[in-house]
Amino acid sequence: MLQEKLRALEAIFERAIPARMAELSQAFGLCVAGADCTAQLTLIHRQLHTLAGSAGSFGFVALGERARALECLVKEMLRDGADGARLAALGRELHAYTAWCLCTPREAARSAPQPAPTAPPWVGGDGPIILVDNDALLARDMAAQLEVFGYRVLVIGELARLEEALAHSAPAAVIMDMSFGAHEHAGALEITRIRQASALHFPCVFTSGANDFATRLAAVRAGADGYFSKPVDILALAERLDALTVKQQAAPFRILIVDDEQLAVSYYATVLSNAGMQVRALHAPHDIFSALGEFQPELVLMDVYMPECSGIELTKLVRQENQYLDVPIVFLSSEDDLDIQLDAVKSGADDFLTKPVAPAHLISSLTSRAGRHRLLRTLIMRDSLTSLYNHSAIKEQLAREMVRAQRSGSELTLAMIDLDHFKWVNDTYGHPVGDQVIRAFARLLQQRLRRSEIIGRYGGEEFVVILPATAPANALMVLDQVREAFSRLRHQGNEREFSVSFSAGLVAMGTQSSAAAMFNSADAALYKAKQKGRNRIELAGH
Ligand code: GH3
Ligand code: MG
Ligand code: MG
Repeated sequence: MLQEKLRALEAIFERAIPARMAELSQAFGLCVAGADCTAQLTLIHRQLHTLAGSAGSFGFVALGERARALECLVKEMLRDGADGARLAALGRELHAYTAWCLCTPREAARSAPQPAPTAPPWVGGDGPIILVDNDALLARDMAAQLEVFGYRVLVIGELARLEEALAHSAPAAVIMDMSFGAHEHAGALEITRIRQASALHFPCVFTSGANDFATRLAAVRAGADGYFSKPVDILALAERLDALTVKQQAAPFRILIVDDEQLAVSYYATVLSNAGMQVRALHAPHDIFSALGEFQPELVLMDVYMPECSGIELTKLVRQENQYLDVPIVFLSSEDDLDIQLDAVKSGADDFLTKPVAPAHLISSLTSRAGRHRLLRTLIMRDSLTSLYNHSAIKEQLAREMVRAQRSGSELTLAMIDLDHFKWVNDTYGHPVGDQVIRAFARLLQQRLRRSEIIGRYGGEEFVVILPATAPANALMVLDQVREAFSRLRHQGNEREFSVSFSAGLVAMGTQSSAAAMFNSADAALYKAKQKGRNRIELAGH
């Protein structure tokens, strides 16, 4: 009787496996798509925790053990923060796990745990992307499209030549077609063979003209990090490659140290710079607001005792300004009087570290606070479709860059960009396809511009680029390259391909006195570009 009941429960558990795997994939997908990552990771953690807990009881030992291992991984990420590399690694692990759970015959899943497939935390080499496809025309075209997104691509037409190429350079990733000659899964087999024979590790995504279960399964079994059926959605492929190759390194945290004592500042500045942070020192408290405005610290490390005013007073002063309510302020002082520590916290400080503090402790404590701050700021300042600066954030950025440029006497150019005939794109292919085009364009701007150049989504299909220390003629050159690249890019909708262009208006800071005036002039130049036939860039006042 009991046995029967248990078996019935087992059967229920087993039937629910696909749904549970789907939930996991969905949560991870949302996380990657930029939804509240912590919330999704928490959800994933709970799902894995539940799986790990129940699988064992129903005899699915291996399934439970692997869930447990993944659970630990997610827990670490929740604790330490999840950067792109860790997310990508988790994605691979989850993918391998769900694929395994779905394909592994019931008996294997029940048996003792198998060693996890070797999915080491590699993120590819610094070589090119190797694209293996025997359709030369298509391969060249795909390579050209990927190059628009800033990837170096090496095209190989014969399957047999991949191994030799791998011996020469560690590719950032391999894009492998599934079918060669008569064999429909030759690409997957070759990848499996090379990985087994050489223990070489590289991310690999598959492309295929087929989209059937057997082909997809063959790819999964070859350890696919992605599967794209043809015609390949280049934006999706580029985004997957981004995640796999972790190209964008996070910018260093900006830390402002407020301390009148030179030696202390030097010491902490050294420790923090050494840990990859960008440090600015402030010796005179009365300069606090210009430092906050200009440097935009993601954390302030504050001394308690300073001659001009105390750190506690300074903190109160800072907190009076709404825009600095959320900057983390951490006190660092040898003060161990609890009352004073309490005062500091009451004044609006986030933490109080007592000197001497071990460098490792200081770094980890600042990293987690600054990281959290950055995440929150990102949510507030970024547009959710493109993760570029949103309307109000880009306006703030321009005002700040203008002050900076005026102070240093350097040039500054502003560009207003508007996609051409975008209403037509929506009307012809639908709004979601329009959104894809907007994302592709944002992605291209990020790829093509330097980090110092600030990109925002001003509204619908309007974008703004701020180019500090750049004369309009140079800005024109840079953006014209973007314009050409963008118009070469092809998008897909209704099983057809189309391309989109943009027009832009540029204005130099020159005599413009306000951000609003600059926007107006850039807008007027943009209007002129539209009038003159679109797909072109005009300079204000020319
Ligand atoms: P042009 O700028 O070349 O003069 O023509 P246009 O067709 O682009 O002109 P207009 O500015 O009148 O139309 C912009 C269109 O962009 C209208 C709107 O439906 C669409 N749009 C605005 N925001 C979004 C968005 O977030 N997603 C999508 N898919 N479409 C958007
Ligand atoms: Mg418009
Ligand atoms: Mg438009």
